[in-house]
Amino acid sequence: MKKIETLLKKHKIKENIIKIAVPAMEEYMGSIIEWNKKVNLTTITSREDFIEKHLVDSLICADSKEIRNSKTIIDVGTGAGFPGIPLALVFPEKSFLLLDSQNKKIGIIKEAAEKAGIRNVIFIHGRAEDLAREKDYREKFDLCLSRAVAPMAVLLEYCLPFVRKGGNFLAYKGAKWQQEMDAAENALDILGGKKTRIDKDGCGKEGTEHVVIYIHKEKETPGKYPRKAGKPSKYPLL
Ligand code: SAM
Repeated sequence: MKKIETLLKKHKIKENIIKIAVPAMEEYMGSIIEWNKKVNLTTITSREDFIEKHLVDSLICADSKEIRNSKTIIDVGTGAGFPGIPLALVFPEKSFLLLDSQNKKIGIIKEAAEKAGIRNVIFIHGRAEDLAREKDYREKFDLCLSRAVAPMAVLLEYCLPFVRKGGNFLAYKGAKWQQEMDAAENALDILGGKKTRIDKDGCGKEGTEHVVIYIHKEKETPGKYPRKAGKPSKYPLL
């Protein structure tokens, strides 16, 4: 348990956030590491790497006003539950929806979250392009999060349709973030977003940068987006 605390402190995660999150994180992490021996959920398997690259990396924007001011949050392409689960642990009063197109992953993380006593999360199996067209989900969230799912131009088409006008989208990105941002100018404009800032405190692999790109939703997303499942990745809005 000490180890998680030490790493969170090293990355300047605030004391009150650490106190809330650590015990339940321990339980959740244990389940995922165990499942990972049977099913390929994550390439990160050592405990230390897991804490730094999954838990701490997920929490780097926990103190942002964008998160603090949001009540309803969706994590698109959550995989083994990142960044959604660590944030749901820190903010039990907020409602989270974790979405992934792989049913097996969704089943496992749902079980792991129940075991860890996490009650403020709903898990949905599906593709972002399909769910974002349903009226119960379209432009219904204060905040969308997504890490390591698709290049920025594609990701914006998956994510911005979920965000209400005035809400925000936080994209967790790796070393090629600048290149991806340059190629996403058109998509950003079409889908109603505006970049506000970039936080560079993430935990990438040795020597690589991990950033969070903050996008504000200024205008409604035109009804024809997202296009049919598969189209955004095949023909990005470049
Ligand atoms: N966000 C997690 C993380 O950072 O550890 C998982 C990243 S994993 C590389 C990408 C995940 O996105 C996979 O679990 C995949 O099934 C999901 N995904 C990819 N395209 C998707 C889509 N169109 N809709 C929903 N999930 C999608």
